[in-house]
Amino acid sequence: MASEHFDAVIVGAGFAGIGAAIQLKRMGIDNFVIVDREDDLGGTWYVNHYPGLAVDVPTTTYSYFFEPNPNWSRLFSTGSEIKQYADDVADKYDVRRHIRFNVTVEGARWDEDAKLWRVNLADGSTIDARYLLTATGFLSQPHMPDIPGITEFEGRVIHTTAWDDTYDPTGEKVGIIGTGATAVQLIPELAKKAADLTVYQRTPIWVVPKVDFRFSERSKRLFARIPLTQRIIRAITDTIYELMVSVAVLHNRQTRGRFNIAAGDLAKMFRFATIRDKELRAKLTPDYDFGCKRPTFSNSYYRTFTKPHVHLQDNGIARIESDGIVNNDGSKTTIDTLVLATGFDLWEANFPAIEVIGREGRNLGKWWRETRFQAYQGVSMPYFPNYLSLASPYAFLGLNFFNTMEYQMRHMDRLFGELKRRGATTFEITEEANTRYLDRMTELLGDSLFLNGSCATARSYYYNPAGEPTLLRPMSTKDAIREASEYPITDYSIV
Ligand code: NAP
Repeated sequence: MASEHFDAVIVGAGFAGIGAAIQLKRMGIDNFVIVDREDDLGGTWYVNHYPGLAVDVPTTTYSYFFEPNPNWSRLFSTGSEIKQYADDVADKYDVRRHIRFNVTVEGARWDEDAKLWRVNLADGSTIDARYLLTATGFLSQPHMPDIPGITEFEGRVIHTTAWDDTYDPTGEKVGIIGTGATAVQLIPELAKKAADLTVYQRTPIWVVPKVDFRFSERSKRLFARIPLTQRIIRAITDTIYELMVSVAVLHNRQTRGRFNIAAGDLAKMFRFATIRDKELRAKLTPDYDFGCKRPTFSNSYYRTFTKPHVHLQDNGIARIESDGIVNNDGSKTTIDTLVLATGFDLWEANFPAIEVIGREGRNLGKWWRETRFQAYQGVSMPYFPNYLSLASPYAFLGLNFFNTMEYQMRHMDRLFGELKRRGATTFEITEEANTRYLDRMTELLGDSLFLNGSCATARSYYYNPAGEPTLLRPMSTKDAIREASEYPITDYSIV
């Protein structure tokens, strides 16, 4: 089968892939294709549509900087509004016509002679492209728990990433495994309808109140007419989130964890104000520092556990039988439906999400595991020419994915701008620059919560399987954006 040729191929049509496409267009590269295994765009915001889904970063901040949306209905908008925003941006920037849906990429191999990426698709065909960009997200491979007997369960099993919108829990006995950010949103919704709900908690999560409000029609009109007004609100929400990350996570050593203690106290007061049962409060209390794993915001999560038909089970699951769950203490709960809010395989299945073979046969996944997880400025690796990996180690900035995208788009702007200026076609990060960056990240992490706080029991996906916290880029958004526009272009070997 002859392969098709493009200047660039982007894997993933979520916000990162759409952002990369917009940036390529800005650079005058229009002959590119975006492939996505789903049948619609939006990535995680298309795949996830469980009841209660809403963003946990204010939407004034959770949006492309260059594309403010005056129509958000509230400060923390719902999942469907964010999916709509992805659609609107893709249409406005004419990205949709580049996307091919239902296309699964198996792997990509660099052809040194042709100076091309050969991208293999699951249907056996290939795409050739000069540039490869993987925008596969961080939370895209669902985690299916390996609990004894789980396949024997005869009732309905739903993972939160494959929610069945026709499912109605009314009158049912439901069991839900997991108490992460997804479960915190879903549990109150399930409790509204289920006759009986048992929550299986392995590690309690930090929960603080969510300060949310609707935007009136008047304020939406004002945002549309005078965009500066919305920019001002964004500046405020950006600053609050940036400050939180700075004092609680990045400079934990300097602040001696005071912010984390204060935030933990707030969560404690919140539990105290909501739950009268001392034993229940104790069960819901994390034993690791606030921030070790992503904290959540909810006004209804704790209150839900005070309802008589909602039970918290934290003895651990021994096994699952055809009609229910047996706990480590020998007790059994019969259920009709098992909900898996068990999150994602971040490190094992996602770094990288497809097999990538670079120059001299270097296998990215193996190289990361045999050396260390690393990526210069969270986007490029030596021996992988013409490749930008947008879901890389040390890529994610703070709490807001759009900040990550903003610096990555600026990085592309500088890099592709230089290629164009020189009439060059190939780039590769030098080993020296990559090592320098990795050393600096390692040093910066020395000040962070992840190395100074008490995180051992958090089971946090911020840490890779070797126990290193290599997910977050430990610097401020301002610094990362500045670096993306100013990095020495000699860090790349450009031919
Ligand atoms: P998660 O944070 O990884 O939580 C998974 C939950 O399942 C954890 O409580 C985990 O327990 C539990 N679990 C997994 N395997 C288990 C097993 N074998 N037995 C018992 N329990 C098991 O996943 P998530 O809740 O889907 O959230 C992932 C991330 O998505 C969040 O951190 C957030 O960044 C993002 N998110 C964002 C939003 C939003 O913006 N609105 C909403 C949802 C999610 P352990 O903790 O003990 O491992």
